Amino acid sequence: MTTLYELEQHDDFIARHIGPSDADTQAMLQTVGAESLDALINSTVPASIRLNAPLAMDGSRTETEVLDYLKQLAMQNKVNKSYIGMGYYDTIVPPVILRNVLENPGWYTAYTPYQPEISQGRLEGLLNYQQMITDLTGMDIANASLLDEATAAAEAMALCKRSNRLKTDKFFVDAELHPQTIDVLKTRAQYFGFELIVGNPHTDLAQHEVFGVMLQYPGTSGAVGDIAALIKQAHDKKALVCVASDLMALVMLKAPGTLGADVVFGNSQRFGVPMGFGGPHAAFFATKDAFKRTMPGRVIGVSIDSHSKQALRMAMQTREQHIRREKATSNICTAQALLANMAGFYAVYHGPEGLRKIAGRIHRLTSILAKGLQQKGVELANDTWYDTLTLNVGEQQQGVLYQYAVDAGINLRKLDADKLGISVDERKTGADIAQLFNVLLGESHGLDMAELDTAVTAEGFGGIPSGYARDTDFLTHPVFNTHHSESEMLRYLKRLENKDFSLAHGMIPLGSCTMKLNATAEMIPVTWNEFANMHPFAPNEQTVGYRAMIKELEDWLVEVTGYDAISMQPNSGAQGEYAGLVAIRRYHESLGQGHRDVCLIPSSAHGTNPASAAMVNLKVVVVECDDNGNVDVADLRAKAEKHADNLSCLMVTYPSTHGVFEQDIVEICEIVHQFGGQVYMDGANMNAQVGISKPGKFGSDVSHLNLHKTFAIPHGGGGPGMGPIGVKAHLAPFLSSHVVSPPDGIAPGNSAVSAAPYGSGAILPISWAYIKLMGTEGLQRATEMAILNANYMMQRLSAHYPVLFRGANGRVAHECIIDIRPLKAASGIDESDIAKRLMDYGFHAPTMSFPVAGTLMIEPTESEPKEELDRFCDAMIAIREEIRKVQDGEWPADNNPLVNAPHTLDDLTQAWERPYSQAEAVFPAGVSPTAKYWPTVNRIDNVYGDRNLVCSCPSVDSYR
Ligand SMILES: *Cc1c(COP(=O)(O)O)cnc(C)c1O
Repeated sequence: MTTLYELEQHDDFIARHIGPSDADTQAMLQTVGAESLDALINSTVPASIRLNAPLAMDGSRTETEVLDYLKQLAMQNKVNKSYIGMGYYDTIVPPVILRNVLENPGWYTAYTPYQPEISQGRLEGLLNYQQMITDLTGMDIANASLLDEATAAAEAMALCKRSNRLKTDKFFVDAELHPQTIDVLKTRAQYFGFELIVGNPHTDLAQHEVFGVMLQYPGTSGAVGDIAALIKQAHDKKALVCVASDLMALVMLKAPGTLGADVVFGNSQRFGVPMGFGGPHAAFFATKDAFKRTMPGRVIGVSIDSHSKQALRMAMQTREQHIRREKATSNICTAQALLANMAGFYAVYHGPEGLRKIAGRIHRLTSILAKGLQQKGVELANDTWYDTLTLNVGEQQQGVLYQYAVDAGINLRKLDADKLGISVDERKTGADIAQLFNVLLGESHGLDMAELDTAVTAEGFGGIPSGYARDTDFLTHPVFNTHHSESEMLRYLKRLENKDFSLAHGMIPLGSCTMKLNATAEMIPVTWNEFANMHPFAPNEQTVGYRAMIKELEDWLVEVTGYDAISMQPNSGAQGEYAGLVAIRRYHESLGQGHRDVCLIPSSAHGTNPASAAMVNLKVVVVECDDNGNVDVADLRAKAEKHADNLSCLMVTYPSTHGVFEQDIVEICEIVHQFGGQVYMDGANMNAQVGISKPGKFGSDVSHLNLHKTFAIPHGGGGPGMGPIGVKAHLAPFLSSHVVSPPDGIAPGNSAVSAAPYGSGAILPISWAYIKLMGTEGLQRATEMAILNANYMMQRLSAHYPVLFRGANGRVAHECIIDIRPLKAASGIDESDIAKRLMDYGFHAPTMSFPVAGTLMIEPTESEPKEELDRFCDAMIAIREEIRKVQDGEWPADNNPLVNAPHTLDDLTQAWERPYSQAEAVFPAGVSPTAKYWPTVNRIDNVYGDRNLVCSCPSVDSYR
């Protein structure tokens, strides 16, 4: 009999995370011809890499236990009132956005909008965001987000270099940039071979010939400098100018675009996205029309569908940088779509008038603070400001006042040895400023808030220098002037959400992207106050809980991967690649082998691999694959030997992006080591390894983990992500630290790769909770079931579609590629027709044409139940039969349900003159009229959108 204890312990999260029941598992094993899960894994995964013991971790815990324990950790954080600023500000997330976007799986579980017909909602949200950025910055075009402000700065610097013909490699950086931005620029500049000159541009710029200049407006000290004069000075010398800025300040300040800036970038966090100990937030990036085709990141554009109706899509998709591989100018892939949407909605919700009120109140409070402090003889380092003051308090007072503030529950910023910084934000009130007076001046200061207010109002506030008040309109588009009541906002958000396909509708079987369950219990802690509202540079005493949680997560990831150390800094897989390659370069430099600069990459690799290699100035040498999709070991050996003197590393994905466990992986790693190289193992496919093999134990030196794939962080419609890296001990001294707040356990001193020491802290509880809920047994089981689900689908589909690659014993790993090229040759129907037709059947398409053109790559993950796998296979098989009708001439090649897909409700209202019925169009086999997902637009014309590039909001009329 079950004991009471067992009953209590057994809430069985594992069984709810994993789709198939035990009975289903047995049936599926039968289909694939394996006696047991163990037998399947034995016949799939090379014995040479198999673990012979379970992971040394705890067992599975219940959701209640996990949340209770995590709450205890969270309570060890102390969330003070933050005046630290430095690019991170307290904000009020409008509750209607908090609950209906940030906490809503309809938004957070969607995939990157590569299939625009089922993504119109988030595409509209992102277009709003781009419009908001172009309006506030005064630039021509903006992208739909980068990872953080500091990496956006690095991208801006790179854009300056490639967009101008000056021969110099010098780049001027205003010392008024946030220190973490300069830190990340340092890392990036080193491998591009740029020399950074950090100084005061007003006095120093004239002495240097530079290809670009980076300014910050307002500066990190709060000063609103005369950037117009500097921009002119730089342009006279043919240098390009990038301006780091702040959206809230830009509501009141002259737009940098109107002053001639070439690039404007920054963090959109304070538009309604919590600080989250550093992220996730969307960095913005805007530029001039002339540079639009070399701008990094994804850009949303307007196009038309097959009924000539307006529809949105990602513009210039084929120009996405990582697709250009080693010719790429940036490696960005996953960005910050969910957070960009939130920031855009914040602007939709408040509108220009609301934003003016918020921004104006912040400035007014800052001016009151300035006035009061000045009256009491406190010296300000800046005589201009928007929301930030720097006080010259002297060395002795700095520590004393800082501590008074902490004792009162307030965090100030320490600058240099003798200054304090204060940044005011949306959450602060007159009472907060009065409290600051008490803390800084003592309670008998005698200042009167009302008098100060009257005085600064009469003076017109006085912080913004003449000529720098905003003089251009913004957010005039109707979308920013309509949804101001909560009813309207709620309905607008719901209307957009309803257009989009997410995991709330059905499976998203994306090869290489691991769209698994993001369990609700894992998501809940993200918006807890103790996690959400922490400043990334809060003092360590206040972040005890955060750091304890992160330490546990790191220890688990060490156990899972077999590495010795983890760096949590990178904000995406691609950033992890970059961070790992930087560590390899630093390691080689430490051995006096800094010349090693050849990176071997198999032809099957994800585009971010060669793009990242290019960013650290490695020369990419492509290694061929054999007919079975495996790395050609002879070719690898030949190339490693040929480049032995200069071999830096191999970048290899395991199991490979061809969906198989290569048998020779151990030998492959040995060859690279033999010739002095390091092995970078792309860990995007860790979902096929957790609990059954450890890359750090079979030859790899460093990997990134996509926490937003294997470890349950949702994709957010194109971000956020987290790409921590694991390294062997010899690489640990070369991990990135952080100039402002060095992360625990990392050797201090190395410059950073991200703006925040632990990347996006606020989403780490998701992966933490996933691991805690699953435990040793659940993690291993998930991997085994991911492999079973993939083999089951492969088995069912293989009778209808050729499977491109198989590994040992005819097995695939956790994903498989089906080849559409023969079908296309026979019928004219291609992979994208199948992808669009799947929408009519209520599915998101698999990965299209990656890593092999003309194929579909299917990854079911362990979370999908057998019913869903069968529903998908049935749809694919029905589609195969439809293709046969085209092949047989029953349906014309240019008028059939495949080439006309997807079908919309709108189709049903048009005169119907097609060789198939309306029912066949919208309710094909297996689709129930009562459970139908409706694409909202017809097939979108990609070419039209790229030829007529429009990346701003169309007028409302044009939507009608
Ligand atoms: C997803 C993926 C990456 C890139 O990760 P991002 O988080 O999108 O930057 C790299 N390699 C492989 C194999 C991937 O699947």
